[in-house]
Amino acid sequence: TILTHWVPLLDGDRLQGVVAVFHDISNIKRLEKIRRDFVANVSHELRTPVTVIKGYAETLLSGALASDPERAVRFVEIIHSHSERLTSLIGDLLTLSELESGDVSLELSMVNIEGTVRHALMLLEQKAADKGITIDCSTIKAAPPILGDRGRLEQVLINLLDNAIKYTPEKGTITVKAADEEKMLKISVTDTGMGIPPKDLPRIFERFYRVDEARSREQGGTGLGLSIVKHIVQAHGGALSVESTVGKGSTFSFTLKKAEEK
Ligand code: ADP
Repeated sequence: TILTHWVPLLDGDRLQGVVAVFHDISNIKRLEKIRRDFVANVSHELRTPVTVIKGYAETLLSGALASDPERAVRFVEIIHSHSERLTSLIGDLLTLSELESGDVSLELSMVNIEGTVRHALMLLEQKAADKGITIDCSTIKAAPPILGDRGRLEQVLINLLDNAIKYTPEKGTITVKAADEEKMLKISVTDTGMGIPPKDLPRIFERFYRVDEARSREQGGTGLGLSIVKHIVQAHGGALSVESTVGKGSTFSFTLKKAEEK
């Protein structure tokens, strides 16, 4: 709270007293801090891959590896993987800023969740297979259609499934389920992964929050996936929740309105 000005209380010409006017600026300050932290985080996230790319490119340009083509190829691979990281970071930032601008227009249609899950899985199948992870979505076949934005919902499923694969050790299992709850359909993604400590659970939907920063980076994470999920589910009027036990696994669930039956 800050004192902004004094207002004199006059009775004719006679000063009777003064009123102190205070302004509560704590909310403005809080928002300003969130914005500042965000800019600092983004700069930090962007700087890391750029620094790596610059360093490796400079070494290659200096000709130091002219007689070691194998190492040179390895350097190019590192440059490539960090460029990919920049691409996903910039993509996630653009999606998030669009979602946070408040005027997201959803393209609503009848969506068959099973189709959306299968579509998302096509992109991730290889990644799961590489780790020997089994994905079971046998029970979602019977799920009733919901009303939603197909593309955005696919993004939600991609982010949740991608996390499940990233944070589950080899030979684990991921189960996608749909449960009927009156007017809503509840979709859940369960993994047999490392789980999330209780103290971190309330914060994992925040931008750039990671339980283990090194691990997230190593897995190609941006720290933005769950914030994107949260915004999309909220824009659909749904609810998002998470349950997790360290060492056992996690379940992320969200609800969506069922399409009206005619
Ligand atoms: P990231 O790109 O780091 O995966 P997210 O926003 O998708 O960012 O997730 C935030 C953090 O939540 C992750 O860094 C990870 O620590 C934790 N997390 C998300 N999904 C899971 C999961 N299925 N199992 C364990 N931890 C998870």
